[in-house]
Amino acid sequence: MYHALSRGQVPPGQDPHYTLDEARFREQLRLVAEVGGACSAYGWLHDGERRPVVLTFDDGHASNYRLAFPALVEHGMRADFFVNPGNIGKPGFATWAQLREMGAAGMSIQSHGYDHVYLTSLGRDALRERLHAARITIEDGIGSAVTLLAPPGGRMPTGLVGIARQCGYRHVLSSRPGRLPASRGTTVLPRLAITTAIDAHRFHAWIHGQRTSILREQLRYGSLSLVKGILGDSRYERARMLALAGRRS
Ligand SMILES: [Zn+2]
Repeated sequence: MYHALSRGQVPPGQDPHYTLDEARFREQLRLVAEVGGACSAYGWLHDGERRPVVLTFDDGHASNYRLAFPALVEHGMRADFFVNPGNIGKPGFATWAQLREMGAAGMSIQSHGYDHVYLTSLGRDALRERLHAARITIEDGIGSAVTLLAPPGGRMPTGLVGIARQCGYRHVLSSRPGRLPASRGTTVLPRLAITTAIDAHRFHAWIHGQRTSILREQLRYGSLSLVKGILGDSRYERARMLALAGRRS
């Protein structure tokens, strides 16, 4: 699970922890190529593509089109891009025309919710409405099927899977770390977040599916989720931004 990429300086307003340098991304693609390449979750789930690694991008940043897309094409790889229709075309985000071009080149454009509001903050009716609107808007805008939902911030309210199904989604890509399941019938799929903290050694371990390295990430995620649960989302985000600011200074 990637987010934004950058060439040199991280643009202001972009989360530096989740913004990977383009050179590092290309180095990771070379490592992925060595183990047999990557496909999109959509290709893996619906088109019978068999690659050892699945690549996804969240948020639909402008850099997804400008930096990730050409690198993926050069390496003969595909990925899913989870976008918010409410953000498409806004400053810093990819436009409809760019996403259509990516879709025409084999990339999968999927749903990250209608806007970037955490799904846990919505009532059931609003949740159903927003998820349905997101799917229809992206399908109409791109002209290809939307069957996958990646909830913003990985926040998954109780009953999400049932509601997502009613809204036409077939799979939910969570932020819970793990290996892909053997069965394509699994509804909720795990993902591993690639942040600037992930060095080549750990990346290598993950794409080789090393259980101890992934288990360590699951434990870390579990304790972070606990802290988020205790602090609540807004207090957690404030504490996180303060910690990030401290690390930079
Ligand atoms: Zn997001």
